[in-house]
Amino acid sequence: MSEVKIHPLVDDGVMPGAADFAGGALRCLCVERPVEVQVSSPVAHAHVCGCTKCWKPEGALFALVAIVPSDRVQATHNADKLRVVDPAALIERHACADCGVHLYGAVEKPSHPFTGLSFVHPERFVQPGAAAPTFAAFVSSVIEQGVHPERMGGIRARLRALRLPPYDCLNPPLMDYIATFMAKTNGVLPV
Ligand SMILES: [Zn+2]
Ligand SMILES: [Zn+2]
Repeated sequence: MSEVKIHPLVDDGVMPGAADFAGGALRCLCVERPVEVQVSSPVAHAHVCGCTKCWKPEGALFALVAIVPSDRVQATHNADKLRVVDPAALIERHACADCGVHLYGAVEKPSHPFTGLSFVHPERFVQPGAAAPTFAAFVSSVIEQGVHPERMGGIRARLRALRLPPYDCLNPPLMDYIATFMAKTNGVLPV
């Protein structure tokens, strides 16, 4: 077992998702009055994220993140406990005020490539089977969490061993998606 801990859901090996997973309920950690958010969609682009803003379970270096359409996301229980963590951030991360878990992060800024999409943490699904992560994003950012730069070689090697190729921004498909959106917006490519 590697001593490099990434996230509890991948540290023992990445388990594949279920092909028929069609969504479910995300629930925070509260025992009393947990917040629940219904996601009526499979998840896309599942990955682990090293940035300082995504919610992570205690002791994890990376967050587990995936993308769903915002119009398939609906708070169903105890939504009064939801707070936007940082209203100035591109991703409006809605967290439980009591336990701190982020239930969903919506991008609503007009004309952004990710507008209409929400970031969720699949580990909080009550139902098993969400698609497994396939890459690691914002890996260098773990240094901003306080990780010594000398550990980065070991962390990237561990991510590769888990078949989570490490990128210091997003992976090529998502970077291409953003660049294509910008090229169309700017008239460089036909819409
Ligand atoms: Zn909570
Ligand atoms: Zn992140």
